[in-house]
Amino acid sequence: MNNILIIEDEEKIARFVELELKHEGYTADKATDGRTGLEMAETGAYDLIILDIMLPQLSGIEVLRRLRKSANEAAASVPVILLTARDAITDKVTGLDMGANDYMTKPFAIEELLARIRAALRQSQNGGAHGERAEKDDGILRAAGIELNVSAHTVTFRGKPAEFTNREFILLRTLMENRGTAMSREKLLAAAWGYDYYGETNIVDVYVRYIRQKTDDTVIRTIRGVGYMMEE
Ligand code: CA
Repeated sequence: MNNILIIEDEEKIARFVELELKHEGYTADKATDGRTGLEMAETGAYDLIILDIMLPQLSGIEVLRRLRKSANEAAASVPVILLTARDAITDKVTGLDMGANDYMTKPFAIEELLARIRAALRQSQNGGAHGERAEKDDGILRAAGIELNVSAHTVTFRGKPAEFTNREFILLRTLMENRGTAMSREKLLAAAWGYDYYGETNIVDVYVRYIRQKTDDTVIRTIRGVGYMMEE
């Protein structure tokens, strides 16, 4: 059973999320300020942390920064989903740079938060944020109507075969292996073109456009100021 910590000072939101999590079969604890939340998180007893950014005593960003430096390895690597105010782009980017796995903008739909929790838990339990081992069991990655067969090197979109060049395939595969996680252009570039690529990072934008043309505009989300993300 997965144990989740909610660090959120708005009692109504914290209580609502707690009830929903318990309804989904998780166990959940709450903290209502940054300092208490950090202390609880540092025990390493949690599988995932939902962390509000605007908190009394210590901000969510500061909690995250300290947590990632924790000597307790389980605590330092625990998946964190940030809760941010609408349009707080700087917070999102800072949070992702600081090692947050994902973020939700308030007000959010609980179903979306639950989906992101499942994605973050699956990634961490499959061996790390890069998801290299994600669903290697049948060698097929599935998301947003796409089925990508890793070994056969084939792709279908809504059941119909789609032709992908090698580079497009690698880019798509990287996004699918990391679905639910915002990926920077630099990370995608490194995955599909290699670290020694010298050109512009906007080549990633061009290839994402190719993938969208071969599927549709809904499969890859643009994360402004960060890069791209494959939805669950
Ligand atoms: Ca708050």
